[in-house]
Amino acid sequence: MDALPNSTAARDVAYLLHPYTNARAHERDGPIVIAKGEGIHLWDDAGNKYIEAMSGLWSVGLGFSEKRLVEAAYKQLQILPYSHTFTHKAHEPSVELAEMLVKMTPDGLDRVHFTNSGSEANDTVVKMVWFYNNAIGRPEKKKFISRLNGYHGITIASGSLTGLPANHRGFDLPLPQMKHVTTPHHYRFAEEGETEEEFSTRLAEELEAKILEEGPETVAAFIGEPVIGAGGVLVPPAGYWPKVQAVCRKYDVLVVADEVINGFGRTGKMFACETYDIQPDVLVLSKQITSSYQPLAAIVFSDKIYQGIADGSEALGTFGHGFTTSGHPVATAVGVENIKIIQERDLVSNAAKVGDVMRGELAKYADHPLVGEVRGVGLIAACELVADKATKAKFDPVGKVGMSVFKAGHEHGVILRATGDSVCFCPPLITTEEQAVDIVARFGKALEDVR
Ligand code: PLP
Repeated sequence: MDALPNSTAARDVAYLLHPYTNARAHERDGPIVIAKGEGIHLWDDAGNKYIEAMSGLWSVGLGFSEKRLVEAAYKQLQILPYSHTFTHKAHEPSVELAEMLVKMTPDGLDRVHFTNSGSEANDTVVKMVWFYNNAIGRPEKKKFISRLNGYHGITIASGSLTGLPANHRGFDLPLPQMKHVTTPHHYRFAEEGETEEEFSTRLAEELEAKILEEGPETVAAFIGEPVIGAGGVLVPPAGYWPKVQAVCRKYDVLVVADEVINGFGRTGKMFACETYDIQPDVLVLSKQITSSYQPLAAIVFSDKIYQGIADGSEALGTFGHGFTTSGHPVATAVGVENIKIIQERDLVSNAAKVGDVMRGELAKYADHPLVGEVRGVGLIAACELVADKATKAKFDPVGKVGMSVFKAGHEHGVILRATGDSVCFCPPLITTEEQAVDIVARFGKALEDVR
């Protein structure tokens, strides 16, 4: 790294340990220092301009210069910059956002609990479900089933739910209560000649077998992202969600939909539960809830669970869980304004319309020799690169080519993301059709560079 001694880059390497970063590689290569953002664009400190085609971490729905969010935060900071929500304290922004969420989410979700991040939210879901089952007198019903390649965060419980090796390796995870089943990805895991419906039926049968093997009386919940995001944008095969949901209902296993990425328009509907006909007992939201201008996550859940916890907190004692900044007034005020903007500007329809254009442009690469599969829904997509199109053989090592396309993308002014060798696209909800075409064209140039 050849940064000036007192530069941001040099001080970054001197003082920080970055999340999700190979520390030694970072010492060698140094950071890209992001200096400012506007619309769907970012600039680094050398003045290079990029289209942020990943919305940061799948999260900056309104882009980088939404003044109304800044004003909402400033106004709230002046009125009440902080108050907590422990032991009977309330404040208007968190109540307003909770009410909004209950009204806009699918039927049967009646209560809200706030955390600061998606990982904390999923960790909290585990603890809420454990508390609930203890409260209603079935303390043995504690296991969670999730999917390989699913992503639910990185705390000890949520990291255990995550089904990716990097989140377990070196951390002594997963916890023994967390079990994993097959990834619902037809291209990679279907058998020869199996249709999507047949594949979904087989996965539902596998889930049922897993529940029976563990003992239904020990299995509390099934958690999944309607569309797997960080695991490579894996769109579920036809019929998958109704089939697995039916299995869960049969054995009184709660359905938890993790819409931390999917929520607020990403799949072309406000919530992916609407796109895939899911009636969850628990819905987990974060990221686009504030366009990530403030850290916030929300767990929206059924009255049945609420009543169990409420009765339990009389019988077992206080529901002893919560964070100093749970339901933070500034974060929730920004959340309220963010959702109003999404609704007023009909950005959900925009995501559907621009998503069609983006996926249409990407589909043109389906015959490219490096491209195994192009997939997506709404305004989220991926292009999986393979060493051999016919056999679907992966590159060796996995991820090398994806990383090269990601880096070449920077040269062409676009920020993408590589999950293994799947190059992911998740531009802000405000992206225009012209910008979507431009993003894919820049990706095309990056692909040619590594060919
Ligand atoms: N759940 C899903 C589906 C996610 O994609 C993520 C993060 O990408 C998380 C949970 C964890 O959220 P956080 O990074 O805010 O802890």
